[in-house]
Amino acid sequence: MTAGQSGVFPREFRQMAERIRYENGRWMVPDRPIIPFIEGDGTGPDIWRAARRVFDASVARVSGGKRQIHWLEILAGEKAFKQTGNWLPDATLDTIRTHRVAIKGPLTTPVGGGIRSLNVALRQLLDLYACIRPVRYFEGVPSPMREPQKLNVVIFRENIEDVYSGIEYKAGSPEADALITFLTERFGANIRPGSALGIKPMSRFGSQRLVAKAIEYALRSGRRSVTLVHKGNIMKFTEGGFREWGYEIARERFGDRTIPEAEAGKRDAGRVVMKDRITDAMFAQLVLRPDEYSVIAAPNLNGDLLSDAAAAQVGGLGLAPGGNVGDGFAVFEATHGTAPKYAGQDKVNPGSVILSGAMMFEELGWNDVAAAIVRGLEGAIRSRRLTYDLARLMPAATEVSTSAFAECIIEHV
Ligand code: NAP
Repeated sequence: MTAGQSGVFPREFRQMAERIRYENGRWMVPDRPIIPFIEGDGTGPDIWRAARRVFDASVARVSGGKRQIHWLEILAGEKAFKQTGNWLPDATLDTIRTHRVAIKGPLTTPVGGGIRSLNVALRQLLDLYACIRPVRYFEGVPSPMREPQKLNVVIFRENIEDVYSGIEYKAGSPEADALITFLTERFGANIRPGSALGIKPMSRFGSQRLVAKAIEYALRSGRRSVTLVHKGNIMKFTEGGFREWGYEIARERFGDRTIPEAEAGKRDAGRVVMKDRITDAMFAQLVLRPDEYSVIAAPNLNGDLLSDAAAAQVGGLGLAPGGNVGDGFAVFEATHGTAPKYAGQDKVNPGSVILSGAMMFEELGWNDVAAAIVRGLEGAIRSRRLTYDLARLMPAATEVSTSAFAECIIEHV
């Protein structure tokens, strides 16, 4: 079923399915929620088909058939362009806004085309200010590290401010030259003429709501610490501000449930320990002592770099899920691209979108479903019946198709 295009649901569907609501800071999830999905371009349909089977089987098995997802297709990317002449129809954005939670496969970004990025549009429209990337090891996956299982972090990356605010001026442009003149004459700044300029705004409001989300997650999931990652030794007011505001919100809103690292030790019983690390040191720490870190809260650029570096430590981006979450809105997605050369071959790994689904269920409070999906994936990897990308790296593995891999996950749910 496609929203926006058909516009209405058949009567029997309407009677059974309900929208997810968000009230007083909490998700209200019916037993039969409607969840919009974008299958994605290139290999998107292959991995979405497989993922959907895993989701439906996991929900059915865990709930004994009591719960069921009503998937609602919405269009974006090439499929949307073919059917509507628009890469990102307004109906798609409206449907996500109405249903609050959605999941998407990868989308082609046409080079030189006039399409605005779906992610940027969604972030702005729904104020999805936290990009959440859990990074953990799955036993058996080849990794460059000696003890990859020691890394198990959830990275909360600020998703609106910092370099994502997009204030940048080309070298030699009238805007850059005017700004250089202004900064030089007004504030005595020393800038080489003809430079390009970028501005990174970071606010107390934006930083604190991100850090608060990370702390809430740590408290909810029983994680031991939240580490603020910043380059405040050099950028004292933006990155340094992030650190200061992060500790401030921890103290003011979660004072009885958090404790600064300096005061931790015997007194921290049950409280989330608040730490901070300078960005470059954090990269080293994740390699050398990964088990000392649990939840990470970072400004936009730091979080971007850390997410991919951490994913590489546990075997790459192939199994890395992601979610963009705001207050009462969330869009989950595979983190890899469309891998167009494999499109329609039933070949690529659906793990990223499947784990993004597990994240979605966890966010909605269906922890049992999320756990079942992860269990299924762990079992499939242990069985060594794997898609080509993992099979080529693992001795004694059998290569299977995307759909056969999904079947194998379902066997282990
Ligand atoms: P890509 O699609 O991620 O593919 C790069 C390589 O990564 C593939 O050739 C393949 O490696 C491997 N790969 C990707 N997905 C895989 C999967 N599910 N299973 C196994 N291996 C996988 O990156 P790209 O070629 O740079 O980008 C292609 C298109 O995707 C572009 O239009 C880009 O804009 C878009 N993109 C979209 C998103 C998004 O929507 N979130 C993100 C990134 C890129 P091997 O060749 O070694 O097999």
